[in-house]
Amino acid sequence: MDDRVVSVALPLPLQAAFSYRVPEGLPFPERGSRVLVPFGARRVIGVVTGTGSSVPGLKDVADVVDETPLILPPLLDLARWVSEHYLAPPGECYRLVLPPSGVRASRALARLAADPGPTPDDPVVNALRAGPLALSTLARRLRRDPTAHLLRLRRQGVVAVDQDLRAGGFRYLRIASLTGLSVRPGGSAQAEILDRLAKAGGRLDVPGLVRGRSTLRGALSRLVAGGAVAVAEERDMRSPEILEGRKAVPLDLSREQAAALGPLREAVASRAFVPFLLHGITGSGKTELYFRIVEQALETDRGSIVLVPEIALTPLLVRAAADRFGATVAVTHSELSAGERHDQWWRIREGESRVVIGARSAVFAPVADLGAIVVDEEHEASYKQEESPRYHGRDVAVMRARLEGAVAVLGSATPSVESHANALSGKYRRLVLSSRVGLQGLPRVEIVDRRAILKSGGDPILTPPLVEALEECLARGEQAILLLNRRGYATSLLCRECGQQAACPNCSVSLTVHRGGATTECHYCGHLSKAPSACAFCRGEYLRLTGFGTERVIEAVQAAFPKARVARLDRDVARRRGAVAGVLAGFEAGQTDILIGTQMIAKGHDFPRVTLVGVVDADVGLGLPDFRAAERTFQLLTQVAGRAGRGDLPGEVVLQSHLPDHYALRLACGQDYEAFFNHEIEFRRTMGYPPAAALVNVIVRSADAGKGAREAEALAQALRQGAVGKYRVLGPARAPLARLRREHRHQILLKGRRGAMRDAVRRALVERYGEVRWPGVAVDVDPVSVM
Ligand code: ADP
Ligand code: ZN
Repeated sequence: MDDRVVSVALPLPLQAAFSYRVPEGLPFPERGSRVLVPFGARRVIGVVTGTGSSVPGLKDVADVVDETPLILPPLLDLARWVSEHYLAPPGECYRLVLPPSGVRASRALARLAADPGPTPDDPVVNALRAGPLALSTLARRLRRDPTAHLLRLRRQGVVAVDQDLRAGGFRYLRIASLTGLSVRPGGSAQAEILDRLAKAGGRLDVPGLVRGRSTLRGALSRLVAGGAVAVAEERDMRSPEILEGRKAVPLDLSREQAAALGPLREAVASRAFVPFLLHGITGSGKTELYFRIVEQALETDRGSIVLVPEIALTPLLVRAAADRFGATVAVTHSELSAGERHDQWWRIREGESRVVIGARSAVFAPVADLGAIVVDEEHEASYKQEESPRYHGRDVAVMRARLEGAVAVLGSATPSVESHANALSGKYRRLVLSSRVGLQGLPRVEIVDRRAILKSGGDPILTPPLVEALEECLARGEQAILLLNRRGYATSLLCRECGQQAACPNCSVSLTVHRGGATTECHYCGHLSKAPSACAFCRGEYLRLTGFGTERVIEAVQAAFPKARVARLDRDVARRRGAVAGVLAGFEAGQTDILIGTQMIAKGHDFPRVTLVGVVDADVGLGLPDFRAAERTFQLLTQVAGRAGRGDLPGEVVLQSHLPDHYALRLACGQDYEAFFNHEIEFRRTMGYPPAAALVNVIVRSADAGKGAREAEALAQALRQGAVGKYRVLGPARAPLARLRREHRHQILLKGRRGAMRDAVRRALVERYGEVRWPGVAVDVDPVSVM
């Protein structure tokens, strides 16, 4: 065995790891160090994951980027776990823990050697007198490729070249400063430089210093050689916003909060892995408990991560965290520029930020010495990444806590069926907050049967009971929320002659109508077009809008309440940068009376003047062919109902439905989680769905339907061998979403023991496609949805 062989994960969608030899002369990279390695015709940066296997024809590591490991050991273990648990390409998983731009080789810097001796009068040496230069800059300055020239100088020991890789992606400023050594300026150019520097307080960036006079550059070099001026490169931090704290003080805990905090504090102090499920009804004050444990971790110098489903929807939590913890809070969100994202990563890695708030991917933030990890609204589907690597942020969070000996707190008013089952089995410790912090109890709920209203010819969007409740709410000067979890104007465009719906050219779904009927959009692939004026099938010209979305609700509300100030919040509105924050702030400030929107308005918000919540159509989502349809509906309705009556005013909920007797609706009205869970777990057991069994969904994608079907059949056959007693194989069948982005989808659903299913899938795929790439096959372990 050759002890100079390392295994390297490359940031590529390949299932295999790769071994490289470390040539003599390079420092031996430890696990977690980045290395530059040849891959095909390219050179890429990978991360050393351990010792490799020595096989003939090994290539050499080209350079060692980090002499001390950059990636923290628990995060390396976490990346490997993600790769194994989700059968995802290792390189893609290690990429999750690398700095954002750490996958590219970056620039080489030439500098004068530490002790160059008497330096020759040489153009390269002269150029470097003012400080290190990137090779590309040097080439530009000299107007030719300096490589051969540099090689000679390097051999003479005059110049050194560093791979400036660790720093790749930073922005650098070249700063000239007065050293304090006084010299007589040799000429007007030198005098000018000294003058400019003095006026600027002794420091100036070099481009600014020499601006307008090209001769100043040479003069600067001479001043540097003479010792009067020094030039250094300094890293420039593009921090998005350093959050300023107002130093808010902790709230006095309610009796229930105090009771829950006890075990949490004990766990944090123990420095051991303890997973908690914090089941607290809406408005019970979970956030304050999150902050208390973050605070406790900070007191002992440990960091924390707080995961939220979506940063844009949680401005209050972010603000509260900044008020409480000040500048040590880093917020990661999708609106950061690449540069900001990069600098943010380093701020966290270098320990300047010890509290990280972010969505799913923040679970991989390079927080050293993690004390606590919080997953707020742990039941949210957005924690699952729907592209490779298909990880679940909540489950990764629990695994990270285990690897770091940290406390994991999963919080929700409507825990996922899996998490509640874990709490009941003792895998998670259960903490309960059963009452609201304020004086108000839970809101009063009324279910309106839309069938009866339709029969009597009433308006199906705003039924009379909802109109009445809105009237009263507005008359009292209070605010209302109207939920419809369907964006757009109409759900489809139907031909009256042949009965066909306008369909997406790329997907097997009907198009949604937007902008009052002007455009159509596919909600799966984004295909946008002008609304057709004739049926694509029979050329019939009588098209009818059917179903309704949020745009249509706004129209109806404006017609019924012309004086009310209304705003909409859904993905269409959210496309504009800053729009979500604007709408939420306007509503919070009372500039809006009625907020209309999709599930985006149901989450976590705390608006004390909202006393009415109307659910325009509670059945959206119930009809989906997905085993989580009832769970999602229950969660959404319970959450949105929880927005009403959070201040000192009582709340009211009006829920319109075609299926008023459905258990998910009935039990959401009473916010009866236990009853819902008991009903749901029965269904999961009978049908073999999680948590009664694990699922692995194998999706075969193909441009050709016949070919896809044959591939799926062959895979299913391989999977059926060895299934007995371990798992069941369902399918292959066309996926419920049979065509997506021009690809046909076939799926094979496995139910049973996760480990056995994973092994079988890996074996079948390796046998069919080899070790390296599994083209056209997506494996989804623990899918949150099987559509
Ligand atoms: P949850 O996340 O459980 O729905 P929040 O954490 O948003 O609830 O708390 C609901 C409201 O109660 C917030 O306005 C919060 O500031 C307030 N609150 C929480 N704990 C306390 C407390 N101990 N004393 C006073 N107000 C509190
Ligand atoms: Zn489409």
